[in-house]
Amino acid sequence: MKETFSSVAVFQYSAEAQIIKGRFEAEGIETFLVDNHTIDTDPLVSNAIGGVKLKVRCEDRNRALQVLESISKYSVDDEGAQITCPKCHSSKVELFTSVKSVKSFFFFCISFLVNALPMHIKREYHCAHCNNKFELK
Ligand SMILES: [Zn+2]
Repeated sequence: MKETFSSVAVFQYSAEAQIIKGRFEAEGIETFLVDNHTIDTDPLVSNAIGGVKLKVRCEDRNRALQVLESISKYSVDDEGAQITCPKCHSSKVELFTSVKSVKSFFFFCISFLVNALPMHIKREYHCAHCNNKFELK
């Protein structure tokens, strides 16, 4: 049987997946989340079941990957300035939200919903060029 849907990204929490889903749908790409309800019920099982899978139709896969690439290309700080790697000065920097506890996950949800509160979570960036991981204050 021909596979109809293709996984393009995996997220630890469905809140992150929802952000990307919104971007895809703005581009007209139909998106499906798998296991997000299970993880919403108990965020701690996310690692065990492999995270929230973001799937698109196979024919949309290439376009979806382009959108993902353009999102990661535009990692900017709170003032909208391009973030560059402190080690190699590459601008190919991806944002990783590192939510390490249920408490910070709670803050993550609140700041995501309210969108006005400062982020209470540590934001970690990953350089696609030299693999350097760093944090911004
Ligand atoms: Zn770098």
